[in-house]
Amino acid sequence: MDFALETALRAGEPVLWANPRRRSVAAFGPEAVAWQVEIAAAAARLDRFGPLLAECFPELAACDGRIESALLPAPRLGEGLLVKADHVLPVAGSVKARGGVHAVLVVAERLAWQAGIIDGLGDDYRRLGSPAARELFAGHTLCVGSTGNLGLSIGIMGRALGFAVTVHMAAAAKEWKKTQLRELGATVVEYAGDYTAACAAARREAQDSPSLHFIDDENSPELFCGYAVAGLRLPAQLAALGIPVSDEHPLSLYLPCGVGGAPGGIALGARLALGDAVHIFFAEPTQAPCMLLGLASGRHADIGVADIGLSGRTVADGLAVGRPSRFVGRLMEPVIDGAYTVADEALLRLVAAAWREGGLRLEPSATAGLAGPEALRCAALPLWAEGPVTHIAWATGGGMVPETEFAALVAAGEAV
Ligand SMILES: *Cc1c(COP(=O)(O)O)cnc(C)c1O
Repeated sequence: MDFALETALRAGEPVLWANPRRRSVAAFGPEAVAWQVEIAAAAARLDRFGPLLAECFPELAACDGRIESALLPAPRLGEGLLVKADHVLPVAGSVKARGGVHAVLVVAERLAWQAGIIDGLGDDYRRLGSPAARELFAGHTLCVGSTGNLGLSIGIMGRALGFAVTVHMAAAAKEWKKTQLRELGATVVEYAGDYTAACAAARREAQDSPSLHFIDDENSPELFCGYAVAGLRLPAQLAALGIPVSDEHPLSLYLPCGVGGAPGGIALGARLALGDAVHIFFAEPTQAPCMLLGLASGRHADIGVADIGLSGRTVADGLAVGRPSRFVGRLMEPVIDGAYTVADEALLRLVAAAWREGGLRLEPSATAGLAGPEALRCAALPLWAEGPVTHIAWATGGGMVPETEFAALVAAGEAV
């Protein structure tokens, strides 16, 4: 890895790393094509389950059970800036809703087929909400290692279908998330160690049991594909707003990154759907830049932030990950343009600014994308030719943060 970059990372300074391995979509190779099929299948699955989801969650009744969020113009937060409002994504109030719900539906669909509750893709999927299906699901446990939002998403969807749910959490996870999960009837297991340790424990437990289904945040194609559906849906959303995407009108996406599944899925989906005029940057905390480190060093999951003396501790609890996903980093090599880091104080300031200037209720993790345009300006990279750039900051979560908790974050952000 470049010496200057490593020095800055070690010092916890904000950096921007430009990816020298980015390729045009035409040069992606067979692996990306294989993913394209899987991502399309995930989109179709979410559509199949629409009628059931609309029955489970009243907030989805008006949109045929589609879990989607708006693209909101946010000129007061940046010129040409749009905010992708996943902080108010239905069901779970974070980007985790698409991935987590999809991963649960994969399990539910397989079990229901095996039990003969459904026997064709054209069946009425509302049968998966029947008493017989609930009885079937009650004999199965979904387990997940989570920093918080993934646990919430799996917990909400899993419990809605009648599954037992166990969430393994690092002790540092927010108390309100644990409380909310327990109220849903999920079991929360806390670990003194970090998030990777929580995941490892969950994985071990699920290994030999057919009634235990481990949803592996570090290594799950089902989560990844669920997240990626958001990328596939972008062209229609942009077209509806009359926003062109072309070489003359480039689009730049800023995606907060933890373990990499959510931003990775969205990035691949967006590149496949929109081509080479979309430019993608991952955003990470200065103390937990696991994806940037893995990509820039070429060592991916074989290196962790502790290896370069970083704590992994950050106010952005959704991004407090020390080691990237075992498959996403490598997959991202030709996909993204780069990655940048943001200091905790800047994230808190952005929580306050997003609330004050845009009325947006974002958690610290979700503001990392808002720092993108400025990070690019500071790095002064000759990224694109002339032409007005549309910037999309992906607001990944915050909708379920309790009022008092949010007020404290805003106050902290106004004070720094
Ligand atoms: C999980 C999460 C992310 C990042 O997703 P990963 O799949 O962990 O990279 C970003 N923001 C919020 C609010 C999250 O909960």
